[in-house]
Amino acid sequence: MDVRLDEQERKMGLESYAEGQVAVVTGGSSGIGLATAGLFLDSGAAVAICGRDPDRLAAAEDTLRQRHPEAPLLGCCCDVLDAEAVERFAQAVAARYGRIDILINNAGEGRSSTFSDTSDEAWRRELELKYFSIIRPVRAFLPWLKQSPSPSITCVNSLLALQPEPHMVATSSARAGTLNLIKSLATELAPLRIRVNAILVGIVESGQWHRRFRAQKEQPDWAEWSRALALQKGIPWGRLGHPDEAARALFFLASTMSSYTTGSTVDVSGGLARHV
Ligand code: NDP
Repeated sequence: MDVRLDEQERKMGLESYAEGQVAVVTGGSSGIGLATAGLFLDSGAAVAICGRDPDRLAAAEDTLRQRHPEAPLLGCCCDVLDAEAVERFAQAVAARYGRIDILINNAGEGRSSTFSDTSDEAWRRELELKYFSIIRPVRAFLPWLKQSPSPSITCVNSLLALQPEPHMVATSSARAGTLNLIKSLATELAPLRIRVNAILVGIVESGQWHRRFRAQKEQPDWAEWSRALALQKGIPWGRLGHPDEAARALFFLASTMSSYTTGSTVDVSGGLARHV
C-alpha cells in the first residue's frame, strides 16, 4: 500500500481546519517536519520552518515550492537551542504573517548509547536538546499564540518515553521527562485556550534513519534494510512509518480537528507500543 497522499486526498477537506492560520514547524527541513510543513501548506495555512543547516533548509524550501509555488512559506536558519536565534525566528514569522496559531516542536534527533557508554557531557547534551527544543520555542512563540483564536502546541515525542530502550538510555529518559512537561504545559495553558499535545513516534523513515543506513559498512538496498529493521524491532505492522503518516497525526492534534483534545498523545508506531 502506498501510504503517501495523492493530490486529491491532500486537498480533501483539510482547508476547513487550518486555512488562513500560521503554522511554525521547527526542524521543518527534513523527514517528519518537512512532511508536516507540506501538509499545512496543502491545507491553506501559511508555514514557517527552521533548521540549522542552510543548504538543507534551502533544499526543503525548493521542495515545498515545487508543490505550492505561490504558497506563503518562510524558512529561517535557527538552532532551537539558541534562545536569541529562536526569538529572532519568532519575530521574523510575526513580522511576515502578523499572527502565529500553531507551533510544532519537531526539531531534534535521537542518541544511541547505553548507560555505561554515556558520559556526563552526553547526558547534558541530550537532556538539553530534548527539553530546550520545547522550552525555547514555547517561550518565544507564546505571546503570539496567546493572541490566536485557536492556538496549539504539538510536540514530536517518541514511544521511548513510555517504552525505554537500554541502547537509547538518555533519549528514552529525556523523552519521558518531556512527556511530563507537555502534560504540565497543557494544564497551565488551558485557561488561555492553548492546547498542548504530542505524538509518540515508533520508527519513521526519515533523515536520521537514512543516515544510520548509510553508516552501515555492508549496504543492502534501503528497502531490504528497512524491512529487516522492522522485523528486528518486532513492529506488528511489518514496516517503518512514512513521514506523511506522522504528519497527519500532527495535523490532527495541531488543527481545530481536535479542538477538545489537550494534554494527550497519539501513537504513530505501527503497533509497536506494548502498553494498553
Ligand atoms: P530528520 O533528521 O529527518 O529531521 C530532523 C530535523 O530537525 C531536520 O530538519 C534538522 O535540520 C532539524 N534539527 C535538528 N536539530 C535541530 C536544532 N537544534 N535546531 C533546529 N533544527 C534542528 O529526523 P526526523 O524527521 O526523524 O526527526 C524529527 C523528530 O522526530 C526529532 O525530534 C526526532 O528525535 C523525532 N523522532 C523520530 C523518530 C523516527 O523514527 N524518525 C522516532 C522518535 C522520535 P538541521 O540538522 O539542519 O538542523
